Amino acid sequence: MPGHRLKLTNALYDYIDEVSVRDTEVQRRLRAETLKMRGAQMQISPEQGQFMQLLIELIGAKRTLEIGTYTGYSALAVALALPPEGQIVACDVSEEWTAVARRYWHEAAVDHKIDLRLQPAIETLDRLIAAGESGKFDFAFIDADKENYDAYYERALQLVRAGGLIAIDNVLWGGAVIDTADHTKDTRAIRALNKKLKDDQRITISMTPIGDGLTLARKR
Ligand code: CA
Repeated sequence: MPGHRLKLTNALYDYIDEVSVRDTEVQRRLRAETLKMRGAQMQISPEQGQFMQLLIELIGAKRTLEIGTYTGYSALAVALALPPEGQIVACDVSEEWTAVARRYWHEAAVDHKIDLRLQPAIETLDRLIAAGESGKFDFAFIDADKENYDAYYERALQLVRAGGLIAIDNVLWGGAVIDTADHTKDTRAIRALNKKLKDDQRITISMTPIGDGLTLARKR
């Protein structure tokens, strides 16, 4: 094995949570409510949210994109890390799930930073591009339907500035990416994008094993 790799156990994740996660009270309540809902596995982990907050601060992000909002935990984390004038354009298609998100964004007093667009994300992204917004975003988080991942990535790459960052979630897909018996559309789409990104000279990448796998791509 090239270098040391620690296998994380649930006890170690609990330790990370205990000694490092700085979830606010509103974040904790949103997390708890979402865990009781259908699709709860789509919620990012608190250490991933905190990692994204650090990225937001590191690159001095002001304008960000989120593709796939669900009940709003990731947007809440990013919004809390953005400066007062910061903005997230959040894309989702579910009234039901984003109604939960809106409630917590309001409670955390970050709702003014989040511009939720309820329509297919490709339409929202194409509208932004048509409106001359290319190169005007600092950060994009892609975490929606996997079949469209490549379409989201290409649009996000156009919309972020040089030096901006794209974070792509679920790139290890619960381990399914290496299951040779898995030929589902979602798994094939993730594998194809992972393969493409390795040689994509438009970006600098790091595939990080946080959560369900998070690829960071910095636009050159
Ligand atoms: Ca996800």
